Amino acid sequence: MSGVKGMRSPNRKVADPIIRFWKNVVKQERCWVWIGTRDKHDYGCFSLKLDGVRKNGRSAWTMIKAHRYSWQIHFGLIPDGKNVLHRCDNPRCVNPHHLFIGTQDDNMKDMATKGRSPRGNNHWSHRMPERMEKLSEGKRENAKKMPRDTGGRFAPVSS
Ligand SMILES: [Zn+2]
Repeated sequence: MSGVKGMRSPNRKVADPIIRFWKNVVKQERCWVWIGTRDKHDYGCFSLKLDGVRKNGRSAWTMIKAHRYSWQIHFGLIPDGKNVLHRCDNPRCVNPHHLFIGTQDDNMKDMATKGRSPRGNNHWSHRMPERMEKLSEGKRENAKKMPRDTGGRFAPVSS
């Protein structure tokens, strides 16, 4: 459990990202709730230093969803094109036991089996946040491939 490959910081000025991560988490009876920055869909956001990447002589940073980072800490890299979904329907939760890998299609089926509908209620899920998740995933992938263009920019989820 020493972290995700390529994500450790050699720079002592920045605390180990995994230590920083857990400082933003409150473990409750069931869910581990993210108390740090959140996006407009209530997903936790975590800023991560891009190892070995520098922009204008400074370290480059990227933003990752907290629950996705939690998945990577515990289980490794997320397969391409896959989402990390919540069994507990709590977007702030980073409990790895409540997370599972799936596609947008899986998410829709999951909502159906739980009796949720993407329409007709005010629950956060009615706007299909996983779709946004997928968009931001694409941007994150770009950030990994071309960090000098996107590194250090916060708030990857934009419309
Ligand atoms: Zn949970």
